[in-house]
Amino acid sequence: MTIQDNLQKIRATIDEAALRAGRDPASVRLVAVSKTHGADRIEAAAEAGQSLFGESYVQEFLAKSEEVRTPVDWHFIGHLQTNKVKYLRGRVSMIHSVDRLSLAREIDRQWEKMGRPVDILLQVNLGEEVSKSGVDEDELIELARQVAPLPNVRVRGLMTLPPYFDDPEEVRPFFHRLRELSEKIASLGLPGVEMVELSMGMSHDFEIAIEEGSTLVRVGTAIFGERAIRP
Ligand SMILES: *Cc1c(COP(=O)(O)O)cnc(C)c1O
Repeated sequence: MTIQDNLQKIRATIDEAALRAGRDPASVRLVAVSKTHGADRIEAAAEAGQSLFGESYVQEFLAKSEEVRTPVDWHFIGHLQTNKVKYLRGRVSMIHSVDRLSLAREIDRQWEKMGRPVDILLQVNLGEEVSKSGVDEDELIELARQVAPLPNVRVRGLMTLPPYFDDPEEVRPFFHRLRELSEKIASLGLPGVEMVELSMGMSHDFEIAIEEGSTLVRVGTAIFGERAIRP
């Protein structure tokens, strides 16, 4: 299977899952997670019509984004150290992994220099100690309130990276919970906070995520194949 075949198959599966859930297939965007894969493979995906890519490691992203010639849209989806935010400034259109106020403040400071805001998602840790990234559920609303007034970040929704289960059905309650949290935050009506995106679902569980309301599925392996160890 080529990257093009994989993309075609995944897009068809996304559409079917959306229709099954009574949703408009256009309401689900595919983020092609290209971490560890070279610029040539990103170009191949871009030629097959994929225009949105997700990266997790700042240094790797900087090097590759210089090499990719086709204009594409980048989202940053990995754990982000505050001192690296400056390298992303102007290069990504969304940061999925905002889990603390200090990080949101630094993003705000950097995009102020751009003279325009950047879209962010609040990453929620629903798996307790399983994942070290993400704000705990009971601190999420407080974080949303604190981030809301920052003028150069627009909170667009929530993201989660649930624990891995062999049976993807077991992850459904996590996706369901993220959606409930997003509705709860939306009901607060915080200025500067919109709950229109749910970033959830990866290669082996994106169909279930779509059934539970995902608008951004982050798919790597099913498009590009197995990853080597991180660079
Ligand atoms: C690597 C990664 C993915 C993609 O995972 P696959 O199982 O390869 O589809 C999605 N989200 C995040 C945050 C990742 O780091």
